[in-house]
Amino acid sequence: MHAEPQPPQAGWPRLRCLVESLAPRLSGPPPDGLGLCGCCRGPAGRDSSRCFQCDLHAELMPGMLPDVVVPVAYAVKGGEHARNLWLYKSGQPGAAAARVMLGALLMVFLADHGQCVWRRAGMTRPSHVAVIPSSRGRPGPHPLRALVAGRVALPWAPLELRSAIGKDLRNPSPDRFRTGRLPGAAVVLLDDTWTSGASAASAAAVLKLAGARQVAVIVLGRHVAAPTDHPAGSSFSPEAMPFNPERCAVHETPAVAAGPRP
Ligand SMILES: [Zn+2]
Ligand SMILES: [Zn+2]
Repeated sequence: MHAEPQPPQAGWPRLRCLVESLAPRLSGPPPDGLGLCGCCRGPAGRDSSRCFQCDLHAELMPGMLPDVVVPVAYAVKGGEHARNLWLYKSGQPGAAAARVMLGALLMVFLADHGQCVWRRAGMTRPSHVAVIPSSRGRPGPHPLRALVAGRVALPWAPLELRSAIGKDLRNPSPDRFRTGRLPGAAVVLLDDTWTSGASAASAAAVLKLAGARQVAVIVLGRHVAAPTDHPAGSSFSPEAMPFNPERCAVHETPAVAAGPRP
């Protein structure tokens, strides 16, 4: 992100090695995969190109949804990636290792697929970066911000939780957060885990109300149920979608990027 991420101290070869070592144990959405929600890449509804939650968010906040949502990988319940996403902010043994792994995954993704995300969001390049505040209202800077701090040369768009407790967190609302004025901004909104998407939808809405022209959400893990918990007859299967560091959910092959053939 000068988009281009700054070379971190650990060095790119080490970061890429880490991602390559993790990749065989991850799953991730293939580019514009069939049967996936066109927004969050979870399982799509039977009669919709989106999942129930994303359909609901579109209905509740028309015109204020993120321009694109790109999960780096699936966070399968009980799996290693889901565990790392919990561990990295836990302070428990293994937290430091989880932070190194998630930091590598995010920085390599931004370097390799940032352009894919900006293009799909309709921005030339981002002007600001923001992290979705935790709904638990944990004090201090967000642990995800610490993962990218000093590595991303973009100004931070202010984004704070307005009220942590006593609010209905199931439905999205721009009232959940506050920000400053952001006329014409193109914001990359980072989050660790996407569960219902209500906080990302709320954050995108408040940024757009503040004047942001585009909001692109990148999420480290799109939470999905464990394979044994998928409803009978569901065709959604993360195991059938191996993570591939060379492509992303909105990856375009050169032929596709060049437009339809005559
Ligand atoms: Zn969805
Ligand atoms: Zn890509």
